Amino acid sequence: MPDTKLTKAWHGIPREEIDWFPRVDEDACIGCGTCVTGCGRGVYRFDFDRKKTVVAEPMHCMVACMTCANTCPTGAISFPPVRTILDLSDRVEIHHAVEDELLARRDELGISSVLPHPDHLAEMVVHDIEEIGSATRILTLVPRREHDRLCEHAAGQYLELWVPNAAWMSRAYSIGNAPRPDGSIELQIRRVDGGRLSAWAFGPVAVGDVVAVRGPLGNFTNRSPEGTPIAFVARGTGFAPIAALLEQQVELFPTRTMLLYWGATSSDDFYELEHLGEMLAAAPGLSATLVARRFLPDFTPPKGVATALGRVSDAVAGSGLDLAGFDSYVAGPRLTVTDCVAALAERGALRQRIFADSYAT
Ligand code: SF4
Ligand code: SF4
Repeated sequence: MPDTKLTKAWHGIPREEIDWFPRVDEDACIGCGTCVTGCGRGVYRFDFDRKKTVVAEPMHCMVACMTCANTCPTGAISFPPVRTILDLSDRVEIHHAVEDELLARRDELGISSVLPHPDHLAEMVVHDIEEIGSATRILTLVPRREHDRLCEHAAGQYLELWVPNAAWMSRAYSIGNAPRPDGSIELQIRRVDGGRLSAWAFGPVAVGDVVAVRGPLGNFTNRSPEGTPIAFVARGTGFAPIAALLEQQVELFPTRTMLLYWGATSSDDFYELEHLGEMLAAAPGLSATLVARRFLPDFTPPKGVATALGRVSDAVAGSGLDLAGFDSYVAGPRLTVTDCVAALAERGALRQRIFADSYAT
């Protein structure tokens, strides 16, 4: 009989709708019992006559747990692909359910840091809002006061952003430009249906709004010695940190061998193409390829930019490039990044020299 305490909804999704519980290959099971005694949720029972384990309460299984499979000596236990859970956890209502629960249980789950932290808290003003198609906006923020400048950020870093009067928590965004003398930064924001930040960024946001930010954060920054060739790969607004890194490299080492693959669903999702064209003109060592599932008839790439149909990871894998000796920087949705890292390795890039920055979709 299932115990309702162990079968409660997972972040709002009824447990029975989630295909996550162990399957046991009886032929492989040697009846050691490790899974039965090791599972703290009563999923298993033990058949003493046959000396086999039995999955008795599958819905007791903790979503995404794989402890028993990891400790089974014969590999007799299997689970659905982890992507099953990654796809679920990428859903916006899951993010909101987790966020709401954290806020509701703040007294119980919160901890106050006993160490001073170096994070820089600042206020910035929305200076410009640029529309890219219907699904992307670029917000340019400028420091509200001199000490609110984030211009010490390193290209590729991100910040956290609090929208004024919002009841939800901060959201993380990569800074889409290398440091500028005026301290301005660009955030490339993709519309997420039902997303709380999207509701603001594609709704009431206005020039002059003041937002709180914390940063700069993250270590997705350049770590390639001078002269090392670099492959940049981005998908969607994963282009933000890549654009910042590229801008920095074009300024510092314009003759460095660099290549860019940037993928999107449709050609009208690409943005900052004029800027990309300028970087190509300034950096003789740079080549660029735009990859999309479909190109609209009126789309014209910047001069010197190649195009390819399909997925960006497939374009990299099928490029024929020899990337031995290259450093690589990859940014985009989590699953795309995984595929791109595999594609780069397939082309000869050393895994230890592939640096990745991913976000949930
Ligand atoms: S841990 Fe593996 S081998 Fe041992 S009882 Fe469980 S399924 Fe069988
Ligand atoms: S995955 Fe975890 S919760 Fe599920 S049966 Fe195995 S040990 Fe128990």
